Amino acid sequence: AREQASTVQQYDPAHDTNAAHRLELLGELRRAIGADDQLTLHYQPKIDLAGGRVTGVEALIRWQHPRLGRVAPDAFIPMAESTSLIRPLTAHVLDLAVRQAKAWADQGTPIPVAVNLSTRCLLDAGFADQVFDLLHRVGLPVSLLKLEITESMVMTDPDRALAVLRTLRSAGVSLSIDDFGTGHSSMTYLQRFPVDELKIDKSFVQAMANSHGDAVLVRTAITLGHNLGLSVVAEGVEDDAAVAALRALGCDVAQGYHYARPMPAEEFDRWLIDYSS
Ligand code: C2E
Ligand code: CA
Ligand code: CA
Ligand code: CA
Repeated sequence: AREQASTVQQYDPAHDTNAAHRLELLGELRRAIGADDQLTLHYQPKIDLAGGRVTGVEALIRWQHPRLGRVAPDAFIPMAESTSLIRPLTAHVLDLAVRQAKAWADQGTPIPVAVNLSTRCLLDAGFADQVFDLLHRVGLPVSLLKLEITESMVMTDPDRALAVLRTLRSAGVSLSIDDFGTGHSSMTYLQRFPVDELKIDKSFVQAMANSHGDAVLVRTAITLGHNLGLSVVAEGVEDDAAVAALRALGCDVAQGYHYARPMPAEEFDRWLIDYSS
């Protein structure tokens, strides 16, 4: 019954102008990080467009508050990012994701898990060591962890961020540029980033069928990615037409509701059996 109520009620702090409420929500988030039962991860598969294989999953945080109901990540992540709370939150997400990746590897179905990183982590000199410690403690091969970063994130202090990224990458953690095409112009930085993958923002993928400009942007991003030796992922793939168009453009990987919504790990296991048979 609680589960049902939660899908109806959804709290959106972006539309709550009351500063006291926002402050209270931050307090609730701090408690949730310690409590261990309100914050969970959902996993969404990424599909190889040529062969149909599952190449990995993206971990996406979900917050189910006992009184407020479900709070969307787009609402509380930016709020957490404006405070130091994003550090323990990111550490918590990494911990959950790495343990789940380890469970999948132990089950005999190793699946790379991608975690979204927040701005501040890359400005933390100790961040890479924190990641290595976690991998070591859990016993997860480095190759099964991916990190997704946004361009604007790296722009705030490119030199510091680049040092952290290089350390992670040279240890074998693969890196993705998320939401490509939005935010700051980044052609020059993209070339300097030690990344493996480029994810085209879903807004372009969704608009591509009806807008010539968006279709051109998607095609250009794929070419740019390939010219830089990157694997290109399209986000927000919702129908057959998008799959066909992306395949024709030589896009490597697709992610979106067409294949699966983000889901809890146990549900993903069932989805994978179904998908693979
Ligand atoms: P994102 O990293 O760009 O994640 C993709 C978002 O698109 C997710 O929203 C996902 O549920 C949604 N999505 C996937 N396929 C489709 C589709 O076919 N159509 C549409 N319309 N949407 C699709 P979600 O889970 O609400 O997350 C929103 C954003 O919050 C993420 O955007 C990411 O920036 C941030 N976020 C989520 N989890 C975390 C986290 O653990 N840490 C950090 N730092 N940020 C997170
Ligand atoms: Ca992402
Ligand atoms: Ca994205
Ligand atoms: Ca995003």
